[in-house]
Amino acid sequence: MIPYKHEPFTDFSLEENKKAFQEGLKTVEAYLGKDYPLIVGGERIMTDDKLVSFNPANKEEIIGNVSKASKDIAEKAMKVADETFNTWRKTEPAMRADILFKAAAIVRRRKMEFSALLTKEAGKPWNEADADTAEAIDFLEYYGRQMLRLKDGMPVESRPGEFNRFDYIPLGVGVVISPWNFAFAIMAGTTVAALVTGNTVLLKPASTTPVVAYKFMEVLEEAGMPAGVVNYVPGSGSEIGDYLVDHARTRFVSFTGSRDVGTRIYERASKVNEGQIWLKRVIAEMGGKDTIVVDNEADLELAAQSIVKSAFGFSGQKCSACSRAIIHEDVYDTVVARVEELTEELTYGDPTDQSNFAGPVIDQAAFDKIMGYVEIGKEEGRLVAGGEGDSSKGFFIAPTVFADVAPEARIMKEEVFGPFVALAKAKNFTEAIEMANDTDYGLTGAVITTNREHIEQAREDFHCGNLYFNRGCTGAIVGYQPFGGFNMSGTDSKAGGPDYLQLHMQGKTTSEML
Ligand code: GLU
Repeated sequence: MIPYKHEPFTDFSLEENKKAFQEGLKTVEAYLGKDYPLIVGGERIMTDDKLVSFNPANKEEIIGNVSKASKDIAEKAMKVADETFNTWRKTEPAMRADILFKAAAIVRRRKMEFSALLTKEAGKPWNEADADTAEAIDFLEYYGRQMLRLKDGMPVESRPGEFNRFDYIPLGVGVVISPWNFAFAIMAGTTVAALVTGNTVLLKPASTTPVVAYKFMEVLEEAGMPAGVVNYVPGSGSEIGDYLVDHARTRFVSFTGSRDVGTRIYERASKVNEGQIWLKRVIAEMGGKDTIVVDNEADLELAAQSIVKSAFGFSGQKCSACSRAIIHEDVYDTVVARVEELTEELTYGDPTDQSNFAGPVIDQAAFDKIMGYVEIGKEEGRLVAGGEGDSSKGFFIAPTVFADVAPEARIMKEEVFGPFVALAKAKNFTEAIEMANDTDYGLTGAVITTNREHIEQAREDFHCGNLYFNRGCTGAIVGYQPFGGFNMSGTDSKAGGPDYLQLHMQGKTTSEML
């Protein structure tokens, strides 16, 4: 087995790669506007009631009309998943892993098509779309290898005359509710983590990005996944999301999305419903209010670049995005001025145009919410850049910076999830870390400093799941920087990490007298 190595990013300054991406766009354009069925036990079910997936950069352009699961179909899918579990749980872990490796190879061959689809369906600029596809490949390659490591359980001791074993067995039916912001990577990662560990899955992709999930279903089928192992059931949260979370046969829920939805799922899943014989497990990855701290002893150019890139990459629609920067007072004015300059230079618009740094935000609700925060920002800080939005054709918002924001301001506490960053001043490094920790979340953070003691201080005291030094706070790589946060950022899980698959299994001890 070739050791795991992350999928390289594509260099789009090279003519051949530009051409390949444009070819990808053509492939996607040829299938825009099609109708898609649900997939339950391998069977295609077309419903009249459809989710309309459209291009957030151009509302008129329909990516696909995707059949919506009703409660009846969700129930049927649950039955199929439940039955399929009886056989799937007994398949060789190595065979399950092989499906992931094969799927990775298929995606690699269709890499540009998938990235182009993300550009159209999620509004991702080329490089962000490419990173999303690369991460999907990484999850397949990494979790496949992780399963091979775990397939014989963990070593335990045996006394003379006995033979003890500790094995991992799957849980049952998992409901995977995936997000639109990493519409491929996180959707694929959460799905295959569940299936490679021997569970069966009901996949409910985000309503704004269901087509890429459908295309991934086709990849899994081509890779040899038996019917019924993953069932594709897009639909509305209130109609089938709750139904599946509440279902007595649901064994676990793997959710990535907002804090509101995540806490609601956590609460609902905690209730033991009639006929239920287990306590459900919930794996939730939720929001962030991620901070870059800039020390007075620091490379200030690196600081400004890191803030701008982490705040505005994919228009700040990452739970890892830098949504506040806390800057030592000695260097505050210099860093703010440079952040302003760099932000003014950013271009945004149609993401199919390679020259745009950023594209749109995902939909009208996101647009309205972010523009609402722009108004709040005007009360709470000094508008340094951006502040405008236009939703006539697509949902475009200028990269927006507010400076001189007080620690208790709403824009320092609440997740905005858009191209929006608040800058605040700290008297010293310790105060900066305290301000950074003053949040309900704890997902990512970064510290820009050349002071070794401050690095160690932050390592101990900056309370977040992914802490980076002298770089931005986005872009965790599967298998290199396991990803997931503390507090209201989720259930402390680490996607792409060595202990992630175990969350989808339970340990079984057997002890035989010899
Ligand atoms: N893993 C991504 C990163 O490190 C963020 C994932 C998310 O936004 O959900 O930037």
